[in-house]
Amino acid sequence: MLVLNAFVFYLICFLSRVIAKLLMVIFFIINSISVYFILIYGVIIDEGMIGNVFNTNYQESSSFFSLSMVIFLIILGIIPSIYLMKVKIEKVPLKKFLTTSFVTLLFILALAFANASNWLWIDKNSKTLGGLAMPWSYAVNTSLYHIHNYQKNKKEILLPDLTIADKNKSIMVLVIGESARSQNFSLYGYEKNTNPLLSKINNVYHYNATSSATYTTAGVKSILDHKSTDDLYEILPNYLYRNNVEVIWRTTNWGEPPVHVKNFSNREALMPNCIGEGCEYDGVLLAGLKEQILASQKDKIFIVLHTSTSHGPSYSKKYPTQFETFKPVCNSVELGYCSQAELVNAYDNTVVYTDYLLSKVIEDLKQLKQYNSAMIFVSDHGESLGEKNLYMHGLPMSIAPKEQYEIPFIVWLSDSSKQLKPITQVSQYHVFHSVLNFLNLKSPVYNEEVNIFK
Ligand SMILES: [Zn+2]
Repeated sequence: MLVLNAFVFYLICFLSRVIAKLLMVIFFIINSISVYFILIYGVIIDEGMIGNVFNTNYQESSSFFSLSMVIFLIILGIIPSIYLMKVKIEKVPLKKFLTTSFVTLLFILALAFANASNWLWIDKNSKTLGGLAMPWSYAVNTSLYHIHNYQKNKKEILLPDLTIADKNKSIMVLVIGESARSQNFSLYGYEKNTNPLLSKINNVYHYNATSSATYTTAGVKSILDHKSTDDLYEILPNYLYRNNVEVIWRTTNWGEPPVHVKNFSNREALMPNCIGEGCEYDGVLLAGLKEQILASQKDKIFIVLHTSTSHGPSYSKKYPTQFETFKPVCNSVELGYCSQAELVNAYDNTVVYTDYLLSKVIEDLKQLKQYNSAMIFVSDHGESLGEKNLYMHGLPMSIAPKEQYEIPFIVWLSDSSKQLKPITQVSQYHVFHSVLNFLNLKSPVYNEEVNIFK
């Protein structure tokens, strides 16, 4: 890597010393920040991670800001850059340039063949290596991300029209979790009681589930898609809205495919109608929800609450103080500096708060007696909390640990609304077809195999 990097920049220097200097300064600055994230958070800079960087909002990225990040930036980025600006790059005659290039190439090839026994290992770990070799990790993956994004931004492919099969009033609430992993839910056998409320409610069921990716944009897309695909098909809310179902989307998060529904509200839109401490947190998603449902003239209502409660690294800032059940908690954004127990405590408190939010949704639905109602809670992906020295999420599926993809899939049903099939394992694609089934919507794309209801 070292020789190869030197060789590439030697070539660029020969072509233009000004451009080479500029490039190296830019790379040193970005490298210093990348190294910080790789060392502190154990991330790998692959295409998915680049997507996260481009899709992150200010609030989220500012939560990563810390003193050691500045130190990394100064020592590994700014100081080398100042040196680079000052140093004089010699102009090399063509003959010397060709000789040096030839010898270097020969040396690289010799080195590669001398280590031929490692090729298999390199191939097997190419994803990880590619995500760590700077500046190529972000340079190549940024280009790939934009190329793929351009391809994906084509117009969505419409699904064939659906029909509403009856006039019974029914509501389905889909709560999309953020970075929630099933192993920290006591419903899934966790030894700490992180589900004090849900565990006391009747008709609450849970399934073993895995996410199809380890990052938000792909996870949320899978939850809303009718099948596993890289293409942009009409997603569930758009499909139902276009076919005369009442669709309400409320979000404190980001990263969903384009949603085209009339009732789309983000945090700022919900804030004016919210009272109480929960408004600073995901509690804002519930403000005036019951009233909004009652105002609807339609028989079939589909509601999505896109939460952000368990998003790191500042877990302890994602819930109101009265939900700080497990103490002490990690208050640093540098996860590596907290004890594992403090970190898990803070994360567990986000699960306790999620438990409260879900129980509140159920409470609201129970009061709407004229409706058959159901709630599905499913997370976009899981989260690493220091296991195997990994934090957060976003590793490629092929090497991701189970903490990053084992997700909760929790269902609540109002009395006598429906019964569940006796299955134990589901995927994120079960959401689309189960919602169609529950609301009794007939669609040519409906797939009975990925439906949880009898
Ligand atoms: Zn996410």
